[in-house]
This record gives sequence, C-alpha cells and structure tokens, in this order.
Amino acid sequence: MSADGQAAVAAVERVAERIERERERLTELDSAIGDADHGGNMARGWASAAEAVRDLNDPDPATVAKTAGKTLMSEVGGASGPLYGGSLVFASAELEDGLTPESAVAFAETYLEKVRDRGDASVGDQTMVDALVPAVHTFKKSVEVDDLPPVEALAKAVDAAERGAAFTVPIRANKGRASYLGWRSVGHQDPGATSTLFIMEALLETARDRLDAAGAADVDATSPTVPDEGDPEE
Ligand code: ADP
Ligand code: MG
Repeated sequence: MSADGQAAVAAVERVAERIERERERLTELDSAIGDADHGGNMARGWASAAEAVRDLNDPDPATVAKTAGKTLMSEVGGASGPLYGGSLVFASAELEDGLTPESAVAFAETYLEKVRDRGDASVGDQTMVDALVPAVHTFKKSVEVDDLPPVEALAKAVDAAERGAAFTVPIRANKGRASYLGWRSVGHQDPGATSTLFIMEALLETARDRLDAAGAADVDATSPTVPDEGDPEE
C-alpha cells in the first residue's frame, strides 16, 4: 500500500478510536441541547468506516476518504450523517491526484463548502461550522501565506477549531435541533463542533506519527551503518 494510503487508513482508525473514547462526552453534550444520539451516532459510524477502509485493497487517500464518507452516510443518522459523510465524499475528489499541502487545503475548503451548502449554517449559529470555519481558514493561511509545513499548519488549525468549539458555548443555536431550545441553548457547547475538534486532533496525531516515522527513517539513512555509495572496487 502507498505510504499516503496507509496514513489515510491510519487516520480513519485513529478518528474511530478517539470518537469511541469520547462517546460519553458527546452524548452528554447532545443530551443538554439535542436528543443524546451524537455520541452513539458518531461512534457507530466511525467504527464502521474504520472497518470499511481496512478492507480496501491498496487504496489511495481519495478512496479512503470516499469510502469513509459513504459509510458515515449510511451508518450515521440525524443531521450529522449527511453533513459529515456527504461532505467527506464530495471533498475526497480533491485528493484524487495525491496528498500534497495544496490538495489538503482544497480538500478542507471543499469539505467546509459542502457542510455549509447542506446545512445552511453560518458562523455563530452554534454548529460544527463554528469549529470548521476558523480551522479551515487558519489551515489555508498557514500553508499558503505563512508557508508552514503541513503538520504545523494542521496544529494551528486544531488550535483554531478548539477556540471555535469554545465559541459555541456563549451563543444561541440557530440551526439544528438545539435551535428548538431558543435562548436555553446558550451556555452549552455544540456536540458537532466538539466532534469536529476531536476528529481534527486525531488527524494531527496521525500526521505527527508519520512525520516522526519519516524522521526516524532519515536518521537511519544517514547513519554510518549504511554503506556509502560509490565505486565498489575501492
Ligand atoms: P441530530 O441533531 O439530528 O440529532 P446529531 O446529534 O448527530 O444529529 O448532530 C448534531 C450536530 O449536527 C449539531 O451539534 C451541529 O453541530 C450539527 N448540525 C445540526 N444542524 C446543522 C446545520 N444545519 N448545519 C451545520 N451543522 C448542523
Ligand atoms: Mg442529536
């Protein structure tokens, strides 16, 4: 399997593990302003997605993202199934020519655009969009303007998502189930913004692991135990 394909499978597995660990927390958040199904929905969906991508034969990152998205669409009900799954399927096309800093930015932008199209939510409506917009904007700027290495750009994006998720607490819900609560939604962190943050943290961990592994390989390659290239006669 290609290194990028392998990393993509590892990323989905990592997300599934993290979401499973956070199932209770997501359930609690959705109990406060929704119907308490977000933890169960997400845990079931990502566990199935991890299984589905593990079964792929030599996949590239686009196929992994598409397969995960399709699985989420069929396994996760509620508002978040089509938002997460459908947007992931759509954005996966941006990775078809491979995973590069540029294609990662395009993937993130297309994913955000799709979530907005489908859900019609803006920043300040107390949804996953509140975590996504700062994360995607920060990622794009970090790559394209600041020229940061992709993993550092992703770390900045995760910080931005964290602040975005926190921003959902003092505002009122205008979309989704939580909006039925009116002013009573104020004071609660949005479940979807929170799961978006967890997913991004898992992606960052995977990217860091991969960077560490690549660093270790570089050290091996320059170590004195590797014979010098050159004339074998010498
Ligand atoms: P449901 O609300 O159908 O029970 P979930 O509990 O799985 O679905 O997901 C709820 C999350 O979905 C919310 O916390 C919010 O982040 C997100 N959400 C709901 N409606 C929208 C929307 N119109 N646009 C963007 N995100 C939304
Ligand atoms: Mg719910």
